[in-house]
Amino acid sequence: VCGTDEYGTATETRALEEGLSPRELCDRYHALHADIYSWFRISFDTFGRTTTPQQTRIAQDIFQRLLARGFLLQDTLEQLRCESCGRYLADRFVEGTCPFCNYAEARGDQCDKCGKLINAVELKNPQCKLCRGTPVVTPTQHLFLDLPKLEGRLEAWLERIWATGDWTPNARHITRTWLRDGLKPRCITRDLTWGTPVPLDGFRDKVFYVWFDAPIGYLSITANYTDQWERWWKNPQQVELYNFMAKDNVPFHSVVFPCSLLGAEDNYTLVNHLIATEYLNYEDGKFSKSRGVGVFGDMAKDTGIPADVWRFYLLYLRPEGQDSAFSWADLLLKNNSELLNNLGNFINRAGMFVCKFFAGVVPDMVLTAEDQRLLARVTLEMRQYHQLMEKVRIRDALRCVLSISRHGNQYIQVNEPWKRIKGDEKDRQRAGTVTGVAVNVAAVSPLFQKLEPEQVEALRQRFAGGQVAGDTGSGMPLTPSPPPNPHHALNSFLPPLQGNLVRQLKAAQAEKAQVDAQVAKLLELKQQLALAEGRSPEVPKGKRKK
Ligand SMILES: [Zn+2]
Ligand SMILES: [Zn+2]
Repeated sequence: VCGTDEYGTATETRALEEGLSPRELCDRYHALHADIYSWFRISFDTFGRTTTPQQTRIAQDIFQRLLARGFLLQDTLEQLRCESCGRYLADRFVEGTCPFCNYAEARGDQCDKCGKLINAVELKNPQCKLCRGTPVVTPTQHLFLDLPKLEGRLEAWLERIWATGDWTPNARHITRTWLRDGLKPRCITRDLTWGTPVPLDGFRDKVFYVWFDAPIGYLSITANYTDQWERWWKNPQQVELYNFMAKDNVPFHSVVFPCSLLGAEDNYTLVNHLIATEYLNYEDGKFSKSRGVGVFGDMAKDTGIPADVWRFYLLYLRPEGQDSAFSWADLLLKNNSELLNNLGNFINRAGMFVCKFFAGVVPDMVLTAEDQRLLARVTLEMRQYHQLMEKVRIRDALRCVLSISRHGNQYIQVNEPWKRIKGDEKDRQRAGTVTGVAVNVAAVSPLFQKLEPEQVEALRQRFAGGQVAGDTGSGMPLTPSPPPNPHHALNSFLPPLQGNLVRQLKAAQAEKAQVDAQVAKLLELKQQLALAEGRSPEVPKGKRKK
């Protein structure tokens, strides 16, 4: 269950900037996100959104239950209000003079000059960013979730859930830090129109704050999928709930949302396993959408690199336990050394020997002690792989897969079935056993394959003209045809793809600047390629077959 959370200030502003209604903007971005997941072949039982009648119904129900049980407080907040725009201004819509350093263009939440955090009402000469008018400080009533009153319940629940659940160390640490500092009442309403309406007299022109509202999306998205949703969300006896997120979202999932559900007292299913990653950086710095640094989900497919290569590399450096960094040179290196030369090569060789030496039939096997040792190693790696996957340590689990193919490659290399197949009866039997063991360890179809000179020669003759239908020329057995989505080695793939793009742009008579930019990218790719190949010592020549 996943989806887009669509309410809040950010959406409202963006819609204003793009001249769309918030609904139109959300429709567009929801489709965009769904497309990205589908391209990466990441699938969900349901991929929904928070702007639905079910969301309103369930969020308002939780709110009413919290209100009835005395877990909500009312208090006054001083907020800047622009009368000409007719709205309260979120911090990001105010500019003014920094109260600390007198910088004239400080933002309402932070000063870019001295770096200090600012309370928007403290700005000198505040200005509305939308109309440049002068907003005035206006007292306004808001509702707060009484976290101090729920703290005892939260701690009892955490103690119980931490005894059995898998929480990443950072998730536990961040939660403990929040509790150590003592919980404070948290404002759950906002002066906006784009949100779930607050169903209470005196607050009907306000909506729920996005962090009260958004996690309820898990429930409402399920409710949009099936009217049986309460069998999952009000059934902690039979349901185990996993949450996945980056570490900045932890407190909302480990403290605020559980407190909402504990206070609502409706037998809700609370998170059992909270899996939080550290941050993924980009090359030597940080990803930054505003500065255009880094490759983002919607751009990945335009790189020409297949989704499975992205999936492999992003899991390979999944920031488990510590931050990690995406690097183009490393992507190329890991693709070519691990995915292609290690995993792909092993699976391909195993299948190729069966086809080439044994007419596509897995030969009989007579296992020796050496074969048993390989199987024992593979079993050990498999066991560890399953354990790690259960603990959602995906990066480490992937290492086990790569270890299996590394063992398999060594096994093939030592036993040389391509030589033994030409030997006496005993040698040929051994070639059969080694091939049989290898292909059983591989247990998947070829991921991608090298073209053999004989094969290409056969095709050349076949399509040279005057051929009889069905005649394959030399009569040599063709290796298995590749699956519909073959993987590619980046070294043969990236520059040609970029090259195609350049040619297409030229053919379409694209603007010169656009073509130049793509040509520059092509040259850079070629350069990166040379760089990575120049320091690619991990590819021992002996590993190549034959
Ligand atoms: Zn300042
Ligand atoms: Zn204004």
